[in-house]
Amino acid sequence: MQKPACPRTAKPYKLYTSIVSILLMLGVGQTASQEAQLTPTAEFQSFFSEQLFQLADNSETVDLSNNPQFATIRDLPDFSGKDLRVGLQVGHMDNNNPPEELAWLKGNTGARGGGKWEAEAMKEIVTVAKTILERQGVQVDVLPAIVPPGYEADAFVSVHADGSDSNHDASGYKVAPSEYDRSGRAGKLSDALARVYGEETQMRWDSNITENMTQYYSFSHHRFQHAIDPDTPGVLLETGFLTNSRDRHYLVDNPDIPGRALAYGVLQYLEEID
Ligand SMILES: [Zn+2]
Repeated sequence: MQKPACPRTAKPYKLYTSIVSILLMLGVGQTASQEAQLTPTAEFQSFFSEQLFQLADNSETVDLSNNPQFATIRDLPDFSGKDLRVGLQVGHMDNNNPPEELAWLKGNTGARGGGKWEAEAMKEIVTVAKTILERQGVQVDVLPAIVPPGYEADAFVSVHADGSDSNHDASGYKVAPSEYDRSGRAGKLSDALARVYGEETQMRWDSNITENMTQYYSFSHHRFQHAIDPDTPGVLLETGFLTNSRDRHYLVDNPDIPGRALAYGVLQYLEEID
């Protein structure tokens, strides 16, 4: 069991910090790559007022405004009323009492870095993504390491972090589709997520896709009952390396950034198939 994340509450200084960073961003803070994606002030103001509303209205959600590194402003699609459902799996979460078929999961803690286990860090990222997706009208299931048998959704993303104790220089993110996909859409989900995650985080792409990703147990419906339905597009996201200090800057210190990147990638996919 990982420790529950500290409850986050809205704090005035965070809003102040946001306003300062927004002014910086609109003014001197633009880099060439960001410039193309910035939208006019009016649109941005409505985006920002949404966040103020959220802070004032619902202290249960994550404070999205405390982010000094606003990279892009996107025109996010609203899927309210479309009955879309997305499963976000927190890698390695709650795997201490696995069913017989997945007995080997017991004690499988995943990576560790920056004082956090993989499941703890991924839970924070998934919580940010869930907050954004729900705001855009998408239903979200946060799933543990053991998924319900035949889990069905419009998209399933298993969220992990890498680690390398022997090489702390190893870094980067990667995404791979399920090899057992029958929906014909896992590749599209993987491509959208890979592209948007990179744009939002500016992290490097790690091309080392392994069978542990494409043949992941939660995809393996032919071997395990506790696997997603083959008609559910499934991908595995490695958000970065917990053992790399640069990646930890995102994964541990600023989970809002990878969390937002995950949500935006999923939204991009849902928009493409809409
Ligand atoms: Zn993992």
